[in-house]
Amino acid sequence: MTTTSLKTIGMIGGMTWESTASYYRIANETVRDRLGALHSARILLASLDFQEISELQSAGRWADAAIILSRTAAELERAGAEVILICTNTMHLVFDEVQAAVQVPTLHIGDVTGQAIRADGLKKVGLLGTAFTMEKAFYRDRIASHGVEVIVPEPLDRKTVHDAIFHELALGICSEDTRNELREIIATLVKEGAQGIILGCTELELLVSQSDSPVPVFPTARLHAEAAVEFALK
Ligand code: GLU
Repeated sequence: MTTTSLKTIGMIGGMTWESTASYYRIANETVRDRLGALHSARILLASLDFQEISELQSAGRWADAAIILSRTAAELERAGAEVILICTNTMHLVFDEVQAAVQVPTLHIGDVTGQAIRADGLKKVGLLGTAFTMEKAFYRDRIASHGVEVIVPEPLDRKTVHDAIFHELALGICSEDTRNELREIIATLVKEGAQGIILGCTELELLVSQSDSPVPVFPTARLHAEAAVEFALK
């Protein structure tokens, strides 16, 4: 029997489950590609009810959401998780509370993304995500801490991106019209000097890919899941 010292990844998912399914697939494919044979990722998944989380977000009840995610992280740690992933950009707003609830590391999606942007030598990027991610400071500041300037779309375009996430992608709807709108928003950001585009919502990469952008895109669910596997292999 081949034994490997693959660490167990604890995923806080369901936000939304459409992208959590991608995390699960990407982590397993990355382990298969790295280790070969029949290897697959060791994963513990705690999948939350997004209706509940979404209502807390809309009501600005971040402290209550933090309690739910922190409790979930602690449960994953007790079950054997050796690293925690919050499988959404938006909920990194409560990253500090989640990290404080466990002894094991929680991999910040903004750090993983910021490092990838730096590795490509880019200085200024456009950010697409939920209104919370684009408008609050927590995410932009985290990317900026890696020496990268972040710009966001104008208000109407931000609304288009936010609505696409909550009314379509979170429900598994991928529309060609919406893809075209996102392409235009990306083109505008590029005109404003963006050298790269952060797909800063884990569902965006279900619709938008590199072929929709003249500059490099940074798909955060993929980068996050791959970074977790790198950690698990160490
Ligand atoms: N998955 C999304 C994100 O990466 C949006 C869902 C949420 O609001 O948590 O931000």
